[in-house]
Amino acid sequence: MQNIIDEGQKYLMSNYGRFPISFSHGEGCRVYDYNQREYIDFLGGVAVNILGYNNKKLNDAIATQSQKLIHISNYFWIDTQVKLAKLLVENSFDGKAFFCNSGAEANEGAVKLARKYAYRKYGIQKNEVIAMTGSFHGRTLTTLNLTDNPKYKEGFGPHPEGFKFAKFNDIDSFNQALTKNTCAVIFEPIQGEGGITPVDSDFIKKVSELCKQNDVLLIADEIQTGMGRTGKLFGYQHHDITPDIMTVAKGLAGGCAIGAVIAKVEVADAFQSGDHGSTFGGNPLACAAGVATLETILDDELAANAEKIGEYFKLKLQYLSQKYSVVKAVRGHGLMLGLELSIPGAAVVQKALYKGFLINCTATNVLRFIPPLIIGTSEIDLLIETLSEIFEELELAA
Ligand SMILES: *Cc1c(COP(=O)(O)O)cnc(C)c1O
Repeated sequence: MQNIIDEGQKYLMSNYGRFPISFSHGEGCRVYDYNQREYIDFLGGVAVNILGYNNKKLNDAIATQSQKLIHISNYFWIDTQVKLAKLLVENSFDGKAFFCNSGAEANEGAVKLARKYAYRKYGIQKNEVIAMTGSFHGRTLTTLNLTDNPKYKEGFGPHPEGFKFAKFNDIDSFNQALTKNTCAVIFEPIQGEGGITPVDSDFIKKVSELCKQNDVLLIADEIQTGMGRTGKLFGYQHHDITPDIMTVAKGLAGGCAIGAVIAKVEVADAFQSGDHGSTFGGNPLACAAGVATLETILDDELAANAEKIGEYFKLKLQYLSQKYSVVKAVRGHGLMLGLELSIPGAAVVQKALYKGFLINCTATNVLRFIPPLIIGTSEIDLLIETLSEIFEELELAA
């Protein structure tokens, strides 16, 4: 393991803060490092490994497709891409899909689509995009400007223009940000990096109505909330609204790199031949993995499982919040849960790691739990026991 780390420090850029551990393989909800140590995974590759590790159906789909066709260009029709688009649309809203390779690229595509739609109907003036405080939408130069953390933007200017923020869950602030030049609004059904903060139903319904009245496109960023994580296939489905555009990535292909933009037909048609593209986007291999993943989520009712197991998990976390004064609040839905602490979470993450659990911390003091959707109650019990130990140690030390 030390050799991997030493060579990594020599040959890789230093843009990640990494733990001194390297994993060789995984099985179900568990991963194993090169010293054969076992860890229970409540991070899931940051909400990517929806089916856990070594899932047979996903592995078979990748192996089979790799022997047929790994890549072919989008100058031709790709069977697995069509199949994945159909599955996504049939399980969300009447629309069309564009495929790319990551979350940020999906959000870039969504902004370009929204601008092109407004441009064709109203001309160049209607180009502003409103994002919410506490948001995270990616790290490219455009999506950085939809991400409400000035730290991420520092040193990377000049930045593209036409982006504004409204206060999350504050309709007055949204009304102030909205102008005749607004072309789109982007939100997360549950803010992930922002600290596991759900959108209010009333707020997003009002936003949706205002969007309709002003021909402003509502973009749901489902990159972290999608694919069954929150207890429904997509997070917006909790709120009696339908977005005009939705972006998906992370869990979509169970670990293969993929992103997608789904848009209502009238919006999608703003992209004509040559308007946008991506060489790898929607390639046969990634889409075969996507089809196997989505079919498994649907066949095994993993969204309903996330709802049910998530309820159990949340009750256990609430018990921790009653018992330990360092725990301030429990938030989230399904298998996207957060535990807000009165102290920075980094020390807890570190202790959990050495006790054999992968968790992480967002917004400085919110422990985030985004495990594979196949996680069971026994694994949750083990985590809760370990967190209790850690909180006890911390309270003793304080
Ligand atoms: C992870 C994430 C992104 C960015 O996805 P990448 O694949 O890292 O570019 C965008 N939006 C949300 C809500 C995310 O959680």
